[in-house]
Amino acid sequence: MIVGGGASGVLAALHVRAAGVDSFAVIEPGALGHGVAFGTVEPAHLLNVRAHAMSAYGDDPEHFAHWIAPTGASNKDFVQRVSYGAYLTEQAESAVTDVFATTADSLQPDDEGVDIMCADGRHLRAEHVALATGHGHNRTYESVLSASPRFHPDPFADVDIPSTDDVLILGTGLTAVDMVVLLAARSHRGRITMVSRRGLLPLPHKDVPPLPPIDPPTAETLGPLVREIREFAAHCGADWRAAVDALRPHTNTVWAKLSLADQRRFLRSFLRFWEAHRHRMPEVSADIMSQMREKDQLRVVAVRHPSFVIADEFIELRGGSVPVRFAQVVNCTGAATPAVQDPFSLPSRLVEEGIAERDPLGLGLVVRQNGMLSGQERITAIGSLRRGRLFWETIAIPEIRKQAARFAARVA
Ligand SMILES: Cc1cc2nc3c(=O)[nH]c(=O)nc-3n(C[C@H](O)[C@H](O)[C@H](O)COP(=O)(O)OP(=O)(O)OC[C@H]3O[C@@H](n4cnc5c(N)ncnc54)[C@H](O)[C@@H]3O)c2cc1C
Repeated sequence: MIVGGGASGVLAALHVRAAGVDSFAVIEPGALGHGVAFGTVEPAHLLNVRAHAMSAYGDDPEHFAHWIAPTGASNKDFVQRVSYGAYLTEQAESAVTDVFATTADSLQPDDEGVDIMCADGRHLRAEHVALATGHGHNRTYESVLSASPRFHPDPFADVDIPSTDDVLILGTGLTAVDMVVLLAARSHRGRITMVSRRGLLPLPHKDVPPLPPIDPPTAETLGPLVREIREFAAHCGADWRAAVDALRPHTNTVWAKLSLADQRRFLRSFLRFWEAHRHRMPEVSADIMSQMREKDQLRVVAVRHPSFVIADEFIELRGGSVPVRFAQVVNCTGAATPAVQDPFSLPSRLVEEGIAERDPLGLGLVVRQNGMLSGQERITAIGSLRRGRLFWETIAIPEIRKQAARFAARVA
């Protein structure tokens, strides 16, 4: 049984089918293959990587590029996320015959399998479960701002913003960039302010030749490791993007060697800088944002401890140099919030019931190398639930499809 039918669940299903397993089903309340990233219908929302990195099949890396080619897109394009959602849905249609359109509320494993209780009252049984429930929901600002109709908690809902309103975007990551690009596509004329603790935007992609494979960094403590990586990037003789990409195959191993204290220190002091370099925005988005900043329509500000005042006519942001009032506020933080930080998610419930263990950093579940939950032989996490044991390289398609293929080989 595959619990969750976002990108991870669909990739698991495709690989399970390809491994020759006929008897499996997916539990997913929404459309297959959409999830948080690919359910958008906005043409302005682009993939954050080029088409050639997005195949569902590691042994056929151009599969998505070929699928999208009739639209005129090349494998180097950042295509619309809606197209990727359609690709996964189409793949799923030919591979998945049984879908339960509900959510799994609890899992009870025993020696032979797992009992699955669903929200619609259904009771299912499986020999193996792939837990692909993905990201959690970030509720940080909801408790403070949901009293105002001017607050939009979900950036992927159809947010209706009058074109002359001044807008505050909470967050400066890729989802926040998506929102700015969307407002630009709708010819928004009001001023837009993006705010986060550090005010760091993702850096832009650039088409640079990749470096040949490199040896992994040798340092095993944070200070020397950061120095080693900086020196490598400075002296590798290539664009820094090529250096960051060359490090990608090694980051999970390097992460695992760090002590828990160093991992915590990394999350506190370096994660945002690493993310800005590693999770880059398409060049076209960077161009749109530069033009808006030149016109002084877009500002990016750092506010360490934001607070808010809600009134009928506005929401006021405090904590910066001066209080600033906005007609609309959109929450673009934490589209990839760890599910274990969301008290309403299935993984949190599994932790409460003692079936799973939260990793010490609060990023995911404690899993073994093959993704099986610690102490469980029948439940395997796919995707972001492996964060913690793994560094961030478990939430993008190339890593997820590899995990899906290994899960499939094991259960076949
Ligand atoms: C805005 C955004 C853009 C991104 N762009 C890219 C990109 O361009 N390229 C890339 O490689 N990666 C991208 N990513 C990374 C992304 O995390 C993954 O590619 C992928 O979307 C993760 O999918 P998932 O299925 O693991 O999680 P999710 O998308 O969170 O899907 C989880 C699914 O599980 C279902 N579910 C949850 N709980 C239950 C339950 N109890 N029972 C049944 N079903 C349940 C949900 O309904 C949902 O459909 C992006 C991420 C975001 C947030």
